[in-house]
Amino acid sequence: MVKEILIGISIALVIFAAILGIDITPIVIVGMMIFALSFLLESRGLISSSGKVVNPDTSVSFDDIGGQNTAISELKEALDFVINRDKIRKMGIRPLKGILLSGPPGTGKTLLAKAAAKYTDSSYVATSGSEFIEMYAGVGAQRVRKLFESAKALAKKEQKNSAIIFIDEIDILGAKRGTNESHHEYDQTLNQLLVEMDGIKSDNDINILVVAATNRPDMLDPALLRPGRFDRQVTVDLPDKSGRLQILKIHTRNKLLDENVNLEAIAEDTFGFSGAHLESLCNEAAILAMRDGSSKIMQKHLQEAVDKVILGEKTDKKPTEDEILRVSIHEAGHAIIGELVNPNSVATVTIVPRGKALGFVRQTEKDDTFIYTKEQLEHEIMVALGGTAAELLVLNSRSTGSANDFEQAVDIAKKIVYTGLSSLGIISKDDISGDKVNEEVNKIIKEQEEKVKELLKDKIDVLNEISSILVKEETISGEYLRRILNGETAQKAC
Ligand code: ATP
Repeated sequence: MVKEILIGISIALVIFAAILGIDITPIVIVGMMIFALSFLLESRGLISSSGKVVNPDTSVSFDDIGGQNTAISELKEALDFVINRDKIRKMGIRPLKGILLSGPPGTGKTLLAKAAAKYTDSSYVATSGSEFIEMYAGVGAQRVRKLFESAKALAKKEQKNSAIIFIDEIDILGAKRGTNESHHEYDQTLNQLLVEMDGIKSDNDINILVVAATNRPDMLDPALLRPGRFDRQVTVDLPDKSGRLQILKIHTRNKLLDENVNLEAIAEDTFGFSGAHLESLCNEAAILAMRDGSSKIMQKHLQEAVDKVILGEKTDKKPTEDEILRVSIHEAGHAIIGELVNPNSVATVTIVPRGKALGFVRQTEKDDTFIYTKEQLEHEIMVALGGTAAELLVLNSRSTGSANDFEQAVDIAKKIVYTGLSSLGIISKDDISGDKVNEEVNKIIKEQEEKVKELLKDKIDVLNEISSILVKEETISGEYLRRILNGETAQKAC
């Protein structure tokens, strides 16, 4: 867009100069030369119309991607079509034109596309859906044409007979037609992509494969998913525990680890982390080690990095003494209930302010939980309510610090209602009134609150003990917490 504005301004200046009687011949000649040069470079794929399209980085291989074994084997199976191009042509099989990678952010979709280019010895061109959306009609469609042209030009230049075009955030460019406000421009762009993909034939001299990524496959126009376009879909999920371990090993390959480091324990502690989170964790651990003046990364650096990745950097917030006491009671309440309903689940309890939180309890979650029972959901509500119940029990008042906990409890209670696990039985989400849902949610939360109060009343001494240790030590480990709950007293907290 900047380019278009500059061209407009230059033309206006030249016309203005001509009106003033200035000789504009040299300006016109120089302008034409610049235009011809940029056209030449663009047509050879050396620069792109949007300036961000070409990216010949293909140094990533499938060995650099952890925790995605299923996605990798599905992808390789599809890529073998590109590798065995001649065989496929002889058999009259139409070439594979598009592969759609779908999954949450940071799970390695871009890495997979790069590795696909290396695996198939193809040129690699990358762009993002947002690059095609401009305020001028027709610019997006033109960029799609340029993208395919530059991929072919790059492959020729690199003497390869195939090219992979990676389009990140395809949902921006390929959303269902007619859904966008300035839909004409969006639709033209998408239509051009479909035209280009339809033009891919097995006898093209350069074999083009489009690999697209999205977090929202449901948003895509059905025409894109039709056979003959993105007819292979590969799901790229969050890694499970062994996947996380693999990724941690990949990202600590170039770092010095202390011999006592237990990456398996870190993999266990990082349920729900994406590959990008784990990469950031390894990087943060190295930074913490350096700040500590240590030449090697120790377990404590990795553990602290987990908290940092979840909640952000430690902040300079200086809570008052009263606030510190309240937060310590609140976190102790969460932690005790966490251990009682889910033994061995608490990893750390801390009142060190990080990000927006004044304290938190980190729980290790069980891996690979795809379905939950009603009891498990109720337990989650109990843990969420543990903080405020402890405040009420010890300090006889509640605080605004529990707002997030209540939100969480309400969300889980709604899940119970909508999945037919509440006393309302199986209900239709569309037909039930908000008041009815609210009533049931309140009832569920009240029941759990009563249970939590009873449990904490029984443990009031332990609650006070944990709270005073937290005030002194700021952080206590899950292991130490369990020792206190079992009636053992130790000297050191962490
Ligand atoms: P987005 O949807 O946000 O574009 P993405 O799925 O394309 O994300 P990538 O860009 O591939 O994610 O990953 C970002 C970074 O996270 C990578 O450069 C890499 O360092 C790390 N990473 C992500 N997934 C993995 C993985 N499976 N194995 C190793 N590293 C990973």
